[in-house]
Amino acid sequence: MIDSDTRLCCLIGHPVGHSVSPQMHNAAFKALGLNYIYLAFDVGAEDLETAVLGLKALGAAGFNVTIPHKISVMRFLDEVDESARAVGAVNTVVNAGGVLRGFNTDVYGVREALKIAKPSRSEPALVIGAGGAARASIAALLNLGFQEIIIANRTLERARELARWIEDMGRSAIACGLEEGRMRARRCSVIINATPIGMHPNISETPIESDDIPGGAIVLDLVYNPLKTRLLEEAERAGAKPISGIEVLVYQGAYAFRLWTGREAPVEVMRAAAIKALKRGGSNESR
Ligand code: NAP
Repeated sequence: MIDSDTRLCCLIGHPVGHSVSPQMHNAAFKALGLNYIYLAFDVGAEDLETAVLGLKALGAAGFNVTIPHKISVMRFLDEVDESARAVGAVNTVVNAGGVLRGFNTDVYGVREALKIAKPSRSEPALVIGAGGAARASIAALLNLGFQEIIIANRTLERARELARWIEDMGRSAIACGLEEGRMRARRCSVIINATPIGMHPNISETPIESDDIPGGAIVLDLVYNPLKTRLLEEAERAGAKPISGIEVLVYQGAYAFRLWTGREAPVEVMRAAAIKALKRGGSNESR
């Protein structure tokens, strides 16, 4: 029931039309009997500052930020948490009594999704992509104790930039193009796709095929629409362990939920609601 005590959480981004975060968070609020509501607002770059200050003035509990505002939102916040500063992007904001604090819960999402499969840290990890999701994935891998990370990206210079960032933190890194990345994958224990390759409607595409995936590897595809991407099928064919990006979506959401409500998130409820909403016909991936 919505009343004058209802707390507001929301997503701001552009576009937000097919986000499943409202279904996922509202199911969680309902399961715990919390008087909160989660909405999605399509906000263009020109309105970002007004929207952020408006949410602060209205006393919203917090909000998620998605493409294209994950970096630009930082200048309108009062504080940025270490996780977000390391990645250089914010995807979750908490309104702590009028102080807006930014976090990056994608790092936690990737870490938890990988932890399910108990990754071996003796071999390197391969991250395909060099954007925001790749940065969050790298931060999670460093956090899990990986000593060597290979970054394969279409634009080599962007991969090199991430390699320098990793080396600055005292770990080893190799930057390469996509083709070389496929060769190097053969000695990796973890492979993460942090590009939109394979995302609906391009579902026949994959960044890497079964021949290049080692048998015991863990393959995490950050793409979650479709739930079972061609990459995850290739991983299965290779005898590797496939993990869907839905796990990252659910765990990043679970952490945001905890930050806003102070309560442990009902992860199973959130996963079921997100999957149901996706099956009902989401056709893009904004959150
Ligand atoms: P981004 O910052 O725009 O970066 C996109 C990356 O993908 C860049 O490295 C880009 O390469 C590469 N790329 C794009 N199209 C490509 C293509 N056709 N072929 C080869 N490489 C291509 O985006 P992002 O925020 O990192 O997101 C990446 C993906 O992760 C998206 O699909 C997003 O939906 C997904 N994601 C999922 C979750 C989750 O919860 N599961 C969380 C965050 C992101 P260049 O550098 O050459 O342009």
